[in-house]
Amino acid sequence: MKTLLTNRPERAASALITGGIAAFPTETVYGLGANVFDEAAVQAGFRAKGRPGDNPLIVHVAELRQIREVAARVPASARRLIHAFFPGPLTVVMPKRPEVPASVTAGLDTVGVRMPAHPVAQEFLRLCGFPVAAPSANRSGRPSPTSWQAVRRDLEGRIPCILKGPRARVGVESTVVDCTGRVPVVLRPGAITLEDLRRVVPTT
Ligand code: AMP
Ligand code: MG
Repeated sequence: MKTLLTNRPERAASALITGGIAAFPTETVYGLGANVFDEAAVQAGFRAKGRPGDNPLIVHVAELRQIREVAARVPASARRLIHAFFPGPLTVVMPKRPEVPASVTAGLDTVGVRMPAHPVAQEFLRLCGFPVAAPSANRSGRPSPTSWQAVRRDLEGRIPCILKGPRARVGVESTVVDCTGRVPVVLRPGAITLEDLRRVVPTT
């Protein structure tokens, strides 16, 4: 497969709108995006990465109202963390809506949602119009890429499109917080520290 390298967000968005996948920059690492509601596209992303299906993907949104397209409920702790840290390097895990394919969440009844702060990511997501499921844009087992050149080394010939942007500013993955229980629980440490989270929800 020929891989289009482009710096035009509309080219990458049109790859997803037509049922394909594309790598895109965010402030943490580059992601490999698919329409969250397009099961075949999501599966294509897993194949391109060689990723095992038991690892859930993060769903990326451009606007707050899109959260309810994938989350059945926004718990109070999630609401506060979203208010404090979106857009930014935080992924909030909430109960999922049945419309979200099981392949996105690895069969879990929860969904992780993040709103990137990166302007190119925001423009790309806005042009897509749907929430975008994305793992990091590397071959499984390799480090998460912070530049389009690293994405190219791993995935050229395996994906139809790479949206080029600047080097990822944060370079560390998003912090993942489970907000489905009585108190929020950090599932994966990342760019936002436990201290940051506790300033907003002290019981984290
Ligand atoms: P990656 O895209 O490679 O950064 O991996 C996404 C990571 O987000 C997963 O490995 C999980 O740690 C986390 N994650 C995403 N969705 C969920 C979820 N519903 N429940 C728990 N963890 C999640
Ligand atoms: Mg990864």
